Amino acid sequence: MTSDANLHDATERTPAGDAAWQDDVREGVRHVRDLESLPLSPAERAAVQQAAANHKVRIPKAYLDLIDWNDPQDPIRAQVIPSLQELAEQEGELDDPIGDHDFSPVPRLTHRHADRVLLFPTYQCAVYCRFCFRKESLTSIGRGYTREALEPAFAYIATHPEIREVILTGGDPLSLPDKALAEIRARIEAIPHVRLLRIHTRVPVALPARITSGLVAALQGRLMVTVVTHFNHAREITSRTEDACRTLRQAGFVLLNQSVLLKGVNDTVEVLEELCRELMYRLGVKPYYLHHGDLARGMAHRRTTIAEGQALAGALRRRLSGICNPVYVLDLPDGGGKVPLGPCYVEARDGETWRIRGQDGEVRVYRAVVGE
Ligand SMILES: *Cc1c(COP(=O)(O)O)cnc(C)c1O
Ligand code: SF4
Repeated sequence: MTSDANLHDATERTPAGDAAWQDDVREGVRHVRDLESLPLSPAERAAVQQAAANHKVRIPKAYLDLIDWNDPQDPIRAQVIPSLQELAEQEGELDDPIGDHDFSPVPRLTHRHADRVLLFPTYQCAVYCRFCFRKESLTSIGRGYTREALEPAFAYIATHPEIREVILTGGDPLSLPDKALAEIRARIEAIPHVRLLRIHTRVPVALPARITSGLVAALQGRLMVTVVTHFNHAREITSRTEDACRTLRQAGFVLLNQSVLLKGVNDTVEVLEELCRELMYRLGVKPYYLHHGDLARGMAHRRTTIAEGQALAGALRRRLSGICNPVYVLDLPDGGGKVPLGPCYVEARDGETWRIRGQDGEVRVYRAVVGE
């Protein structure tokens, strides 16, 4: 595979089972002009051209079908249809909100934590989310997969024995053809110190029919595989996404989910509670992170305050079981990494005497007892 390869322009022969997702792609929004036939509001219509210049538009049919067009505030619509607010950039917003570029020793790789790296096999996605924290990279770098482009990254991983996890991100790695995924997996598993392959993807949410037996086979090999999905609302959980997650689980992959806290999409306890329960109980996907909204440009209208996020995280902690609970984190700009934002239950400390707030809100004194 030498030229840019992406499922949207793949010309290889179609294996059986791939027809469903290919229809989903074909019948979805692939270009700005495809939005014209949708029942957009006048404001959305006015925003489309300019917003699409900042961040591409792409919505598979399966995801488009989830939109309730009678609801201007629909949480699915809010995630993928460009809006005028996106054009209002605020002071302090950033092109590279989590410092990917500052920690990139070779192209297509970010190494910030000793034992794991991010690998960017493609900067294309099956769906483009308006709130994307990498939208600047997707637009400015914008390249698909080529075998050659990843060579420096593979060489870097091979010469850094401290790296144990390789995280395929992007872009969306599962927007690549099976053949490309199998190639990438084979290159990574040939490096003996790598133990785990992690895949960060929105494909099970937005293009669930793409999760085929061929795709699973491309990823199976020596390495433990963890798929980190990106569901933001319980309305994204359907019989189709359920099938996709079952296929991944039955392949033996560990499934986790990260969500982004988005104002007007999922910033209520009820919405988050239902999302986390359905993820765990219906899909078998463990809620992993709830991300505070990054400082991506033009996204102020979707960001909550940190205090609001902490209140939501506290309420979730009280309502949900441990396995249904995500950790509320902020990915610090300038590469500070992801830090849990709380809420904090420690009220005060005096030596080994601690004042700790219980889940019922009562503050209790706890004296730590340790041996000599
Ligand atoms: C998010 C991220 C990771 C993965 O972090 P975990 O806490 O292990 O999920 C690794 N490297 C970078 C640069 C990241 O941004
Ligand atoms: S799928 Fe991920 S990388 Fe792609 S636009 Fe959405 S958030 Fe960004």
